[in-house]
Amino acid sequence: MSNTAELSEDLVRSTLASVRTPEGVALSVSPALSGVVVTAGKVYLSINVDPAQARAWEGVRAAAEDAVKAVPGVVSALVTLTAERKMAPPAPAPQAAHGHGHGHSHGAPAPRGISVPGVASIIAVASGKGGVGKSTTSINLALALRDMGLKVGLLDADIYGPSVPRLSGVAQKPETTADGRTMIPLENFGLQLMSIGFLVEEDTPMIWRGPMVMSAISQMLKEVKWGPLDVLVVDMPPGTGDAQLTMAQQVNLAGAVIVSTPQDLALIDARRGVAMFEKVNIPILGVVENMSHFICPHCGGRSDIFGHGGAHAEADKMGVPFLGEIPLHMRIREMSDAGLPIVVSDPESPQAAAYRHVAQGVKAALDRVTSSSKQAPRIVIE
Ligand code: ADP
Repeated sequence: MSNTAELSEDLVRSTLASVRTPEGVALSVSPALSGVVVTAGKVYLSINVDPAQARAWEGVRAAAEDAVKAVPGVVSALVTLTAERKMAPPAPAPQAAHGHGHGHSHGAPAPRGISVPGVASIIAVASGKGGVGKSTTSINLALALRDMGLKVGLLDADIYGPSVPRLSGVAQKPETTADGRTMIPLENFGLQLMSIGFLVEEDTPMIWRGPMVMSAISQMLKEVKWGPLDVLVVDMPPGTGDAQLTMAQQVNLAGAVIVSTPQDLALIDARRGVAMFEKVNIPILGVVENMSHFICPHCGGRSDIFGHGGAHAEADKMGVPFLGEIPLHMRIREMSDAGLPIVVSDPESPQAAAYRHVAQGVKAALDRVTSSSKQAPRIVIE
């Protein structure tokens, strides 16, 4: 059982030896093969190509899909061409002048990374380390934005520990569109939802190698029928390693929200998170202090058990907005575990109000960054 996924992936890769790239190389060993993900018999595979060469690669894509579908045990196969540019840090890379291929070049600067048609703004919710309440903040923030009249989606990109199924109380597998190429996001509380946790059994051990992480995330961005959405909230994998940096670089993020607790150690990690996004020129929408102070469920009394206020001071020092404080409160945890986030289950509570305050700050920051950087026309490669 433990290595079923490994076995299937190897099998899939070896099948691709029979498919040739336009240069005549076996696809199984081509560097263009950027990721293979096998979940419960479904295979997702991406081939990273130069947008100018997209037409030449279409036959390879179709041949790869046919070859994978023929592997015993494969329920469905989805092979996509992706064009994920690495961002050149100092100056924007010059636009490739060729106008052929499936994309439409308008001679405008290239978009910063993966964009999702129908989604106006993608925002990342990140933390320097796990366990600070990033996922709880993500879903309650998404719900509070929904209550402001926005159309909102939540993408659980925390593929190491997906928590959206638990937090949203949704567990079924998503359906695919009639052509089988795109997944339809699940919905609850008026939010569109997608998580790797919807695709694999909860106890399936998943071993993610570096490039697979981005491949899985990019598929959940692009091969899901999102939208139309004003905001897609992305619950990032915790930490500031390569996977997070790649994600920050390769997705056209409008901005990032950093969640921290007030403790010194968490603040050091939060600083790393801010630095990571700044390095790749993603605007920091702000910092949230979670588990800011303890509210006793019995007497309502407040204790600053972690020395509250650290994240606010740190945000001021870094020159980024401070979005607000979320108390440490039993109801937040209990409701999360019950699949009923506090903004839904107890919308009038002070805890829900704290998330609404954060959401207002996020919306204001988002309006600032989107009005200051008019988006270039997008290149879409099918
Ligand atoms: P992360 O995504 O950073 O790993 P989670 O959102 O999963 O963190 O939260 C970790 C645990 O802390 C969960 O059990 C969650 O219910 C609880 N938690 C998060 N924020 C709060 C809060 N403000 N008050 C009480 N419990 C919280």
